[in-house]
Amino acid sequence: MRRRRNTKILATLGPASSAPEVIRALFEAGADIFRLNFSHGTVADHRACHQAIRALEREIDHPIGILADLQGPKLRLATFAAGRIALTPGQTFHLDLSPEPGDETRVGLPHPEIFAALTPGSELLLDDGRIRLAVTRCGPDFAETIVRSGTHLSDHKGVNLPGVMLPIASLTDKDRADLDFALSLGVDWVALSFVQRAEDIREAKRLVAGRAAIMAKIEKPSAVTALDEIVDLADALMVARGDLGVEMPLEAVPGLQKRIVRTARRAGKSVVVATQMLESMVSAAAPTRAEVSDVATAVYDGADAVMLSAETASGAHPVAAVATMNRIAEQVEQDPLYRGIMDAEHASPEHTPADAITAAARQVADTIAAAAIVTYTTSGSTALRAARERPRAPILCLTPHLDTARRLTLAWGIHGVARVDATNFSDMVEKACRAALREGFASSGQALVITAGVPFGTPGGTNILRLAWIP
Ligand code: PEP
Repeated sequence: MRRRRNTKILATLGPASSAPEVIRALFEAGADIFRLNFSHGTVADHRACHQAIRALEREIDHPIGILADLQGPKLRLATFAAGRIALTPGQTFHLDLSPEPGDETRVGLPHPEIFAALTPGSELLLDDGRIRLAVTRCGPDFAETIVRSGTHLSDHKGVNLPGVMLPIASLTDKDRADLDFALSLGVDWVALSFVQRAEDIREAKRLVAGRAAIMAKIEKPSAVTALDEIVDLADALMVARGDLGVEMPLEAVPGLQKRIVRTARRAGKSVVVATQMLESMVSAAAPTRAEVSDVATAVYDGADAVMLSAETASGAHPVAAVATMNRIAEQVEQDPLYRGIMDAEHASPEHTPADAITAAARQVADTIAAAAIVTYTTSGSTALRAARERPRAPILCLTPHLDTARRLTLAWGIHGVARVDATNFSDMVEKACRAALREGFASSGQALVITAGVPFGTPGGTNILRLAWIP
């Protein structure tokens, strides 16, 4: 089971794709890691998906990653007596804490922290920015606004306050319950929504306590401001372009995407580009030219993974969407311009033994046109440093731990093989050759560049580089 590309595909599961046979078809079409979206679905739905993925993983004997994406403090309106109302730009509209169903003049907004943060002149965006309200007067339990744009509003629509730092935790009571559940299932990654500050990651790390890796979704301007601190603490970033494009001007999103991808690559953390990548495939059998170009841009930029949301969760063509993404990534990575564009962002090695060895491995593999770089890793950290080098040769990561191999399904260029460890030098070479042959990475006579740590089995101890030829 070898992919012919380095960029990974993260596919969201939902009603269109939760049947075991569809999950299998998505994997066969190219999905490397699956996202369980806790903004939708029941605990039973997520458990069933988790079981189906793990059953498939056992059957094909290849690690598959699972990401639990927590809803986060998504702010929402209450309801309307009629379910939906019409609005006219220029009219006044009230928001308050009353539990009474809303009408054309007012609606409940059950978030006192929003009223506390508003001042006259503040702007509220409702329904992904379709409605804009400008605050004219406000108090601790109300806001009087003028409708600037938009024509309709219905129950439970989302509320965004661009540029306002709200005094709310990034994990709600629902998130804490979902997190406990996801960790009890044994997911590999947890994604945090609406991260505002580095402290949000620290708190999640305390709760997760190493049982999963942590991805920070960058979708708030405050998270962009704190990006350097967040990337240091998190294990991965997601460019969550849906909410980012509500909170910031749409035209700012492409530049932010480049900045977030570059920051993560420099730090050696994985980065996912997400949302509306092949949006038209929610209903159409083929994407638009612009969507193909969007996926290609993320691949040229060296993102670790590209994500599908509604395309696979609720779309009419989930398997075709993954197959399309797979073809785009394969094609881009064969383009003669790809290397030059991606290498323009190549980060220098840091002054550590792991970076010295992995940078040398990349150079040696290039010089002798090695079939693969084989990294022995316990925690996965050396494999990630090897991925940071973005080598031409594929990275075959051998690890004793299935958990490590599963987490690395998100990382650029890494093909993980679990339950492999070396006890001495000849064992190290023999197992590397056997794995490279079995996984389809090399054939007889081809060279491998192997990195490992001696004494064997010591985490964080990468200190050797060895060349070997497949017998
Ligand atoms: C996004 O906003 O782009 C995103 C990925 O988050 P969600 O799907 O939870 O809205």
